[in-house]
Amino acid sequence: MSGERYLYYAPEINAEVAQRLALESKLRRAAELQQFVLHYQPKINTQNGRIIGLEALIRWNDPETGLVQPTHFIRLLEDMGLIIEVGRWVLDKALADYRHWLDQGLRPPRIAVNVSQIQLKRDDFVETVRQAIERSGVGRDSLELEITESLVMEDIEATTEKLNRIRDMGVTVAIDDFGTGYSSLRYLAKLPVASLKIDCSFIVTMVTDSDSMAIVSTVIALAHSLGLTVVAEGVTSEEQAKFLKLLKCDEMQGYHYGRPVSAKDIEPLLSKERSIVEGHE
Ligand code: C2E
Ligand code: MG
Ligand code: MG
Repeated sequence: MSGERYLYYAPEINAEVAQRLALESKLRRAAELQQFVLHYQPKINTQNGRIIGLEALIRWNDPETGLVQPTHFIRLLEDMGLIIEVGRWVLDKALADYRHWLDQGLRPPRIAVNVSQIQLKRDDFVETVRQAIERSGVGRDSLELEITESLVMEDIEATTEKLNRIRDMGVTVAIDDFGTGYSSLRYLAKLPVASLKIDCSFIVTMVTDSDSMAIVSTVIALAHSLGLTVVAEGVTSEEQAKFLKLLKCDEMQGYHYGRPVSAKDIEPLLSKERSIVEGHE
């Protein structure tokens, strides 16, 4: 009986395993050949509409299929342990792009880099961040780290200790995808973080679903009473933006303000910002 079962399932399972193995070896090659690229998406100050930050988002430039989104490969990189090497590259590349913009006379805002649980768990994590900043020669306040809510609460003591050291270095930390995990409010109040990013799933439905609207306004109030800045992720319409402004959300990010684009394509935006600033001075 069990033999029959095995025969029945085997081809499917084998195909899945084979597919995964093929993808793993392609990703290993991608890391060797540096086929990853960073795109940048602006974060906007709700009050004055100006760019207040840039989030670096990784893509894989697969020569066979073109640009691949991170949701298709980050988990696998984590399972393979390759996220450590790729995560270091992301930090270096984001800071090098930042440096390049400074050298061009632009005034880039703080740059945010997403960090995986696997990176944060390592003992050398804080040192890795410190060295990346030193290598780039930019100020420590140029960098922000985004850590998803679900992983912050895991191993909270060790995480808090590392985040304290990160904050003492002058690097800020944001909690990403807030509302999707199970945050302990007691710990949240103690965490050395500067901002909360409300997960896009609440923003998408806030105008049509009163529960989402209630969650968004509660998170904003909670963050403010803890002295944190709030960012709304995935803002796609003017209507959402209007509500978020009324609710006193500090920052907004989403296709309504700009999709993630290459480092080159973000430069015109930064030049525009510079001329606005200079016009005011
Ligand atoms: P995230 O950090 O929450 O990033 C926000 C995601 O929402 C990005 O997807 C962004 O392109 C997308 N987005 C922004 N505005 C809108 C909008 O208005 N509508 C919709 N539908 N989506 C919007 P992306 O680039 O595919 O990244 C997905 C996730 O992959 C990120 O979520 C982050 O968790 C992870 N990721 C991206 N880059 C890195 C990286 O360098 N390292 C690590 N460890 N994870 C990364
Ligand atoms: Mg993020
Ligand atoms: Mg997010």
